[in-house]
Amino acid sequence: MKSGIIKFKLVTAIAFMVLSSIGCKAQKAATQAIFSKGELGPAENFTGKAWHTTLVASDSIYNTLVGNVYFEPGARSNWHTHPAGQILIITDGVGYYQEKGQPRRTLRKGDVIKCPPNVMHWHGASADTGMQQLYILPKTEKGIVQWLQPVTDEEYNNSN
Ligand code: MN
Repeated sequence: MKSGIIKFKLVTAIAFMVLSSIGCKAQKAATQAIFSKGELGPAENFTGKAWHTTLVASDSIYNTLVGNVYFEPGARSNWHTHPAGQILIITDGVGYYQEKGQPRRTLRKGDVIKCPPNVMHWHGASADTGMQQLYILPKTEKGIVQWLQPVTDEEYNNSN
């Protein structure tokens, strides 16, 4: 009788551990949002779903634009350039950043990227986990972004 109770406790404990790990995984894939999801980015500039919200609109005092993008799993920007560069701050999830001619880099929560002016690049989520990123665009008087061609599946999957 006693061993029956111990067996029951053991089964319950194992079931709890399995369910907890599934719960953690589901939470990880969803990513933690700090800011509102905002608007869906246009299909002409993004593959998959990328949600964008402006946090600081540019004005004549700061000439700086700050916003948040949530890339759903598999979503990414087209190739593009920023006339005055861009700073990316990853706040959750897993994603990628690649400059033309360079290997694709994996990004995780806490990573900071300085993307130099006029360097062709793309950013987006990993295939399995979305990515939350803050972006800072300085010197907006020089322009914001020049959109180029989509990132092909081959380019997206090439980890080099
Ligand atoms: Mn960019």
